[in-house]
Amino acid sequence: MAPAGNRTRDGTGEVTAAEAALMLDTGQARAAGERVIAWAEALAAHTDHPGQLTVAYLTPAHRQASLELRQRMREAGFDEVLEDAVGNVVGRYRGREPDAPALVTGSHFDTVRDGGRYDGRLGVLLPIAVVAEYAARGARPRHTLEVVGFAEEEGLRFHSAFLASSALAGSFDFGLLERTDADGTRMDDLMRAHGLAPEAIAGGARDPSRVAAFVEVHIEQGPVLLERGLALGAVSSINGARRVMVRLRGVAGHAGTTPMAMRRDAGAAAAEVVLFVERRCASQPDLVGTVGMLAVPGGSTNVIPGACEFSLDVRAPQDAVRDAALEDILAEIAAVCERRGIACELEHTMNVPAAPCHPELRAQWRAAIEATGQAPIELPSGAGHDAMKMAEIAPIGMLFVRCGAGGISHNPLETITAEDAGAAAGAFAAFVARFRAPAR
Ligand SMILES: [Zn+2]
Repeated sequence: MAPAGNRTRDGTGEVTAAEAALMLDTGQARAAGERVIAWAEALAAHTDHPGQLTVAYLTPAHRQASLELRQRMREAGFDEVLEDAVGNVVGRYRGREPDAPALVTGSHFDTVRDGGRYDGRLGVLLPIAVVAEYAARGARPRHTLEVVGFAEEEGLRFHSAFLASSALAGSFDFGLLERTDADGTRMDDLMRAHGLAPEAIAGGARDPSRVAAFVEVHIEQGPVLLERGLALGAVSSINGARRVMVRLRGVAGHAGTTPMAMRRDAGAAAAEVVLFVERRCASQPDLVGTVGMLAVPGGSTNVIPGACEFSLDVRAPQDAVRDAALEDILAEIAAVCERRGIACELEHTMNVPAAPCHPELRAQWRAAIEATGQAPIELPSGAGHDAMKMAEIAPIGMLFVRCGAGGISHNPLETITAEDAGAAAGAFAAFVARFRAPAR
């Protein structure tokens, strides 16, 4: 990266002095990246189970992680640091125009069981490192920058995924407070025991007119950037998912005595469908379909499968693309069953709409990536993120950072390099420097 002051903006003119003060040069970005890696390592010392990284909502390790994040924010020079009613860690760094709505960023700091140290946490630590740079040089962004460490996204303890971001979005499900964990602890009691105030959750919902945008930095959790040899990518859309459980019923029969032409084999019918799912979903870019569960209940070696059950998971950046694929798959299931004399029962278990990133924020992320010297590319997110919830109240944008180790995530092998973290810090600073609230 060249010194920030020499950069031109999209070839159309000089970067303003105020913008230049918010950019990081190569050395500063690299140092920020190294700081993020060290912080992630330190944060990973807090775990529910020694020997692995597991941090579930409001466990002692979770409380320690929360304290550590607040401490980092204070040391970085945030103007205000607090914990909200659900346990989110919130840091505010005042902008030059205090009346302008805030640019909100952040991600989650809880983990899955035996998870990785960057999933979610990168999106909290990276903005803290950039604010530390700003505070050290007295630089102020135009909009107040608010960094949120979401207390709960993975749903490990209460099966309550997106608990924390739903509180900010004003769509918190208050029925969850009655839910108990595996040890029978009620969420409401647990929150109170840690000094949180469930009755104040509704008041913590953000006024959409006070949020200019929500942006999230996250590891890709996949192999696309790694394969392409690129550190950063702008996210085009968070894929929506539809899931269906399919139960096929044929006729069980003797594997030795029933001639092939006289069988109603539910397993063979399912096999046809699995291959159709693969073919249909491979026919369009960014469409993915998976049969992740496939079982012959009560099956045995010498019996023709009388029943077969399988799951379907179809995702795409556009709901219409996904729905058309699912429609074709269901039509194929009907045709296969008809031809083979099989009965079929469908249970639709999930329908989450895609959350497209705002076109103006996508363009701003592409420009920010370009400012680090990398070619700008876009990719959809196959996994769900806090930004999906925040999309209910604000335009969203996301930056993906390359994962090493084949792109593995939700796994202790999950890794990123300090160099890539540095590139992400440079891109984040460039994004903040040139941020313009998108039209809505
Ligand atoms: Zn995550």
